[in-house]
Amino acid sequence: MAIRNIVILTGAGVSAESGVPTFRGPDGLWEGHRVQDVATPEAFARNPVLVQRFYDERRAALGRVEPNAAHRALARLDAEWPGALLLVTQNVDDLHERAGSTRLLHMHGELKRALCTGCGAAPAWEGDLSGNPPCPRCAAAALRPDIVWFGEMPYHMDAIGAAIDAADLFVSIGTSGAVYPAAGFVDWARSAGALTLEINLEPSAGTPLFDSARHGPAGVLVPAWVAELLG
Ligand code: NAD
Repeated sequence: MAIRNIVILTGAGVSAESGVPTFRGPDGLWEGHRVQDVATPEAFARNPVLVQRFYDERRAALGRVEPNAAHRALARLDAEWPGALLLVTQNVDDLHERAGSTRLLHMHGELKRALCTGCGAAPAWEGDLSGNPPCPRCAAAALRPDIVWFGEMPYHMDAIGAAIDAADLFVSIGTSGAVYPAAGFVDWARSAGALTLEINLEPSAGTPLFDSARHGPAGVLVPAWVAELLG
């Protein structure tokens, strides 16, 4: 089958070799915190200071990391692939865009954006949100991280769904397949008639759902796969 339309899903594993810790890890924690303490709306309501500090630290840490070979290879594919391509990332870091990807959607939000719970503005944000700075649009001190927490609706689902419906190839890179709805994309893509490929450090919960799988570090496997695809 000739491949024209590609959808790529990335997860925390694609940024691991840049030094950004993955989500669950062997101990089930994100940077030493339980998910339910930092990544739910209830956690934010209970302890906004802790949650703001947690994301302030993650945002500041982006200044100390760089895109790796996997991000760069995906940016090369974006620049050189003549057909349709959509890179959907679950990551909240900015490493795909810093590598040069442009056909990119952040389905779980972005560390470098704030969200006003008053007026709904989502301004680009570089500094801290601790200290309750005012919203640049409505001036209310009501900014939270623009992160999709557990129990909230991921962003861009209509555009992602349309791209999956039209996909000839769906590739999942560096994701454990534990977080829905992203974990369901492989089934969706197969039903839409796409070939499916997993690239992950190790077999994931979803591996049996893919037509083929390659296991090893993304920094090695993704550049090799991109080189194959571009011939
Ligand atoms: P996850 O942490 O649940 O799974 C990461 C997967 O990557 C694992 O299957 C692991 O085997 C694999 N992996 C680890 N190192 C790898 C490497 N070098 N090469 C290839 N694969 C590697 O991540 P997830 O599935 O993305 O779900 C976690 C959620 O947490 C996401 O929704 C995301 O929003 C959030 N998160 C984001 C970041 C980030 O922005 N970088 C970091 C941590 C968590």
